[in-house]
Order: sequence, then structure tokens, then C-alpha cells
Amino acid sequence: MRIVGGVAATLGLAGAVSGNLHPRSQETRDFFALHLDGATSPSHIARALGARHEGQIGELDGHHTFSLPREQTAEFDTLLDDLRTKRKLRRRSGNDVGSDGTSDDPLDGVLWSHKLAPARQRLQKRIPPVSVPYPSLEKKSADAKIVEFQSHAMSTLGIKDPIFREQWHLVNTLQPGHDLNVTGVWLDGITGAGIATAVVDDGLDMDSRDLKPNYFAEGSFDFNEGTPEPRPRLYDDKHGTRCCGEIAASKNDVCGVGVAYDSKISGIRILSKPIDDVDEAAAINYAYQKNDIYSCSWGPPDDGATMDAPGILIKRAMTNGVQKGRDGKGSIFVFAAGNGAQFGDNCNFDGYTNSIYSITVGAIDREGNHPTYSESCSAQLVVAYSSGSGDAIHTTDVGSNKCYNGHGGTSAAGPLAAGSVALALSARPELTWRDLQYLMVETAIPVSEDDNSWQELPSGRKFSHDWGFGKVDTYNLVQRARTWDLVKPQAWFNSPWLRVHLEIPQGDKGLLSRYTVTAEQAKAANMAQLEHVTVTMNVNHTRRGDISVDLRSPAGIVSHLSVSRESDNHPGGYEDWTFMSVAHWYVPRLSACDLSANSYLGVNPLWVNGQSL
Ligand code: CA
Ligand code: CA
Repeated sequence: MRIVGGVAATLGLAGAVSGNLHPRSQETRDFFALHLDGATSPSHIARALGARHEGQIGELDGHHTFSLPREQTAEFDTLLDDLRTKRKLRRRSGNDVGSDGTSDDPLDGVLWSHKLAPARQRLQKRIPPVSVPYPSLEKKSADAKIVEFQSHAMSTLGIKDPIFREQWHLVNTLQPGHDLNVTGVWLDGITGAGIATAVVDDGLDMDSRDLKPNYFAEGSFDFNEGTPEPRPRLYDDKHGTRCCGEIAASKNDVCGVGVAYDSKISGIRILSKPIDDVDEAAAINYAYQKNDIYSCSWGPPDDGATMDAPGILIKRAMTNGVQKGRDGKGSIFVFAAGNGAQFGDNCNFDGYTNSIYSITVGAIDREGNHPTYSESCSAQLVVAYSSGSGDAIHTTDVGSNKCYNGHGGTSAAGPLAAGSVALALSARPELTWRDLQYLMVETAIPVSEDDNSWQELPSGRKFSHDWGFGKVDTYNLVQRARTWDLVKPQAWFNSPWLRVHLEIPQGDKGLLSRYTVTAEQAKAANMAQLEHVTVTMNVNHTRRGDISVDLRSPAGIVSHLSVSRESDNHPGGYEDWTFMSVAHWYVPRLSACDLSANSYLGVNPLWVNGQSL
């Protein structure tokens, strides 16, 4: 066991175009993604390579797909290797020519190249892992005051939807206080008008009378079929429609209402067939000047053994989304935290949920319990209501007048947070993607505070790996959003790579590596406040599931960046994996000690080389 790489810490601080939508037949041709500099035209490159230009990749400027008949691709692979070598040599010699006319070779304008893997079905819906038997809730009697309030709200707002009284996540009459606290927002006149959420999933039934009034065709696309309308087609294409209902089911005579029942809802269909990175990258930027929020209730398998991140094109698309989406204010990406807690899974092993660009949402059930499926991690920002304790989320289903009472898993929690974001944006459209994360941190309500999972932070807030900063409180969120001072541009501090070159001792002692950021360094990097901390690691090891990593701040705040996973038998360590933590989020004031951090690398004492000790 030896660490061969090192640790780089990054502290991030406060301070429809359809794109390439042709179907790609990978049976006869190979496909390549190239990033070209501004002076290099794709047609020029196509000619130089004898390749066919397939189109731009989604909304990624300068990124294009090219293809060649399979029999020609061996030469092309060699050519790309040569290009990479040339670029490396140029970088080393400091002579980066290509776009300024100092080179005649058009291939010098290729900044990056990548052969595309065929489409795969690597993403899974985050439906509950086991179906929960239905409930014996009748035993409880409803709270008379809340029932009265519910009736008052319904008559004031004109809500006559048949299952509204079942929608406990909106008004919980049995467990008072265990709901989103949203009715006051509606009574203030904020119901989501002017905001559009795209549910990236397995389709949206635009013929459902509950969704039809809010269906936003311009924001919708079916990447599985290559057609504009994201209609559910497979027998189990119901998940996306149910998520859509949670966000934007209409106030009418069908089923219930969405959290933001006057907002627009788009469907972006990607989960019903294998999809490649080009389409996935295009999907998460689809109509990103018109869709404000992207609600994603899926990810790599939650089996406690998978460690999977979006490919580089998808990562670039997420960055592109926060930089350019919504007229530069940034697309809001909301991700379900994952359902693999029973299998020892953790949302820091999922590159979507641990991205700094996503709001990661775990689950809490109607009794306020932590559902057994809901994953924990240091990247989890908040929780929202979902299935557990004998009930689930009641929402719209596929069909013209069909409702569903068993929607659950973190799949159902994410869209409730997305709906709350839609209300906040409706009240305050100028909020940036980072403002929304701040607002979640500021207004979430800690729950189960005596369960030993909470750490008191120097900022006065509390953080829990199980609950993030707490449960989403929509009323708090929207109230705070109205008067929120917008954050300054994001600033970054990048540490150098730390090369450790030491063996990880067995047992619970672990290996300690220390890195200090001084106040001067923080100031030079323009840092005023602390948001995300990311740690990119390379660790050589014989069994990945044995490794655990803690990041400990001088104030004693511990982020469990990685935990040991019993099912993870991968015979290796970590390769360039970036872990993320929001546990060190620090707003009020800056001092050197709050910004320095130690990382603690240990092997779980119970499992070494697959053997229990
Ligand atoms: Ca309705
Ligand atoms: Ca997971």
C-alpha cells in the first residue's frame, strides 16, 4: 500500500440550440470529439483528416464530433496520438502556436481529442430499492388546527385537486411540521410563474391533464429517439412524469398540485436507451436559456461498489451550464443523492452528486426519520421529503387522469427541492447558481439534532453527513431569497499537488498529511468566504473498499470524504478522483485558521485486503 500520487485541494470561494442531434451509427463508423481553438473551423479539420463533421456538441463552443468509417480509424488513432505528443512538446517548450498564424498545420488548432465510447446504459433511476407496504396511517388522528389551516389555504387559493389532502409533503396533518412549509409562499402569491424546470429522465407525459397546462415544449427534447417530444414510450417510462408532477402539476381537477404549480415543466428524455457522452452533454445544456433548473433523479448504480463520474464532455457541459446558462446566472442542477445506503454506498463516489455545480438532495420521511436507502456524504447539501415510515410521495402518473401514491427514493426528494428552487427564482430571478446553494445552506432546518451526526461549525451552523445542512424549508428559502445580497464572483485557491509517498499503515492509526493555507494565500486568491472544498486523490491500493479519507480542519470539523465500502472489491485505489465537501462552508468572516485543512487518510480497521480483522 503506497500512495503514488498526491492530494490537491481546491477551495472555491465567494467572492435552444439543439446541437449535435443526428443519430450516430456506431456499427460502421467511429466517432471522435475534438475541441478546436477559435481560429480553426470544423470543415477545415474535416478536410485535413478526411473525416465527416457531425456537428457541434450541444452548447459546448468549439467542441465538435467527427466520424470516420471504422476501417480508417486505426490511422486516425495514430494521428490523434501524434497530436497529443505534439501538444505536450509545445507546452513543455512554452511555444504554444497554432491559432495565431505561426503554424500552417490546421491540426495545431486541435486543443483536445477523444474517441467516443459507444452509447451505454450506465445511469439508473433513483426509485426506492424496495417497495414499502402501505400504511397504517389511519391509526393516527389528524391535527385539527392543521386540517383547518389546510382547508383555509385550499379555499383561499382555489385548490380543489382531488388528492391534495394526501399530499402530506405539502401540508402534513398527521405529523405537524413534517412538510415543505410551502403554503405560505403560495398565499404570498409566489407559485412559480416565469420559471421552467427540465426533468432529465425517461419522459414526460404531456397528455396528462395535470401536466399539459404547464408543459414547456420549447425546453423539451427526446435524446433517446432524436425527436422533440419526450413522450414516455416504454412500459416503465413513468419515473420522469412522476417527478414532473411533484414540481409542476397544475392546480385543477386532476390529482394534486406541484410545489411550483404555475411554473413550466420540460422533459428531456435520456434514460430509456443507451446514451453516449455527446448526447448526455447536449441534454444537460438543452435550451439552457429557457430552462432554469435541471432536475436529475438518477446516477451511476448505487450498489456500494461503483465509483463513476461523468465523462469530460459532460463535466464541461455542467461547467458550461453554470457559466452561460440562464443568461450567465447559471443553470441550477439538482441531483438526487442516491439510494444505496443499505449497500454502504456514499454520494462522494458519484461524480454527479459530488460536483460543486449540483445541489445534492437526500431524503427524509414523513415521520422525520432518515430513510434506510438515503446515502450520506460530505457533498450532500440538504434533504427533502420522500418515502419511508409506511408512506411515499403522492403525485401525477402517466395517463390523462392518473395519480400515483408510491413515488419514493431520493428520486422523489430531488424534485421537491427543484420545485422549491423554482419558487425562489420566481420571487427573485436574478439569483445565480451559487446564490441558490447559499440560500439552501442558510435556510435549511437541522433535524434529529440529537442523533450524533451533527457537527457545530465555526459559522454557527450545523452540518451532518446524513442530512446536509438540514431539510429544505420552502418558506424560509423564498423569504430569504427576496432580500438576499447576491454573491460576488467565485474565486479559487488551488494547492500544488502534495506528493505523500508513504505507506498507509493498517489499523485505525491511518496516515496523516497536512496542508496549510495561510491568510496571505487566501487573500491573494481573492477569497472572502469558504464554499466547496474539493480534494483530488491518487492512491495505490489493493482493495478500494478498504480505504477511507477524512479531511479535518484546524477547528476540528471533519469531512468524511470517503468511507470504506464493504461491497467495493475493486483491486485498486483511487485514480484522479475528486471528492467534495460542503461541511467547511463558512460565511461570516475570514481568518487563516478557518481556511487551512489537514487531510487524514486511513484504512478502515475492520477491513484490510478483504479480510475482517
Ligand atoms: Ca392537479
Ligand atoms: Ca450512489
